[in-house]
Amino acid sequence: MIRIQSLVRQNIIDLSPYSSARKTLNLNNIISLDANENPYGQLRKYPDTTYRKLIDSLSNYHSVSTKNLCVGNGSDEIIDLLIRVFCEPAKDRIATFEPTYGMYEVSANISNVATVKFQLNKDFQIDPNDIHTINATNDLKLIFICSPNNPTGNTISKEQISNLINTFNGIIVIDEAYIDFSSNPSLIPFTESNNNVVILRTMSKSFGLAGARIGYAIADKLIIDYVNKIKPPYSISTLNQKAAIKALNNIEAFKLNLSKILKEKKWMLTQLKEVEAIDELFISDTNFILIKAQDPKGLYRYLISKKIYVRDRTKQVSDSLRITIGTRAENKLFIKTIREYYE
Ligand SMILES: *Cc1c(COP(=O)(O)O)cnc(C)c1O
Repeated sequence: MIRIQSLVRQNIIDLSPYSSARKTLNLNNIISLDANENPYGQLRKYPDTTYRKLIDSLSNYHSVSTKNLCVGNGSDEIIDLLIRVFCEPAKDRIATFEPTYGMYEVSANISNVATVKFQLNKDFQIDPNDIHTINATNDLKLIFICSPNNPTGNTISKEQISNLINTFNGIIVIDEAYIDFSSNPSLIPFTESNNNVVILRTMSKSFGLAGARIGYAIADKLIIDYVNKIKPPYSISTLNQKAAIKALNNIEAFKLNLSKILKEKKWMLTQLKEVEAIDELFISDTNFILIKAQDPKGLYRYLISKKIYVRDRTKQVSDSLRITIGTRAENKLFIKTIREYYE
């Protein structure tokens, strides 16, 4: 067990949080003249700052106690909040395994927190030697592990993550934005036996709610309480909370969509395999495929000229483009256009 308190910034421990007008009252039976709201209109009331119904739905969905859950305006907000809870600006540092999701470093930079970057090996796995280096690095508070990883698409070895958890004296954040697309199990159980593990989830990808901005974290109650302590009180709108609850109440639709996307991914892989100018297709446990293509910049520009956007990842992985799985019609057009380019 880690002493979480000893990792939290002193000013956050000392902080008196903003106290919103109402915390846990039942809004239905109350005359609320406390928050300067307008008495007219459907959305006149501030959102529930405790996100009670949404947290209840998530608690139910994951069979995790409500005490171990917090929600954010997308998981990007939680990334930022975690950095602000734990990292003293201009002193503490975070670690990432590259290539990975860019937001960890951007959020750290905004807080004037440095990022120590470790390179994943040629199979995009954590190099065991780096674990020793990490444990010998001063002022390292947070490690971000994205698994399945964006933009590479693969799952990071559970054994290496476990080795890190067993030796690192800071907080380990495992970003599972794409886990629903994977046949590998979630690492949520790690949070039960390790109070320094945070699992990050988002409803943006597998639940199709990117427009609603709903992310959440599963972790030890103490970490959850500190994140909530500094979180802006109304950062998730009432409409978005409702959209998330609705999606969680319709898991059948979620599963149906998921299976459609996985089927499409299979189709895309078989099609891409037949394109000679594509040199490599990386294993994907996600809803995207990273490819290595000949003349990737030319292909990228040609796709744009045909109004098809993919992600240029050549800076992260040489000659690579990241392609999100779309509908069959979109995927068909994409394959047709790629073929055209190389003809
Ligand atoms: C898309 C993505 C997110 C962002 O999630 P939001 O909930 O939309 O903020 C987080 N992590 C990774 C790895 C992502 O690819």
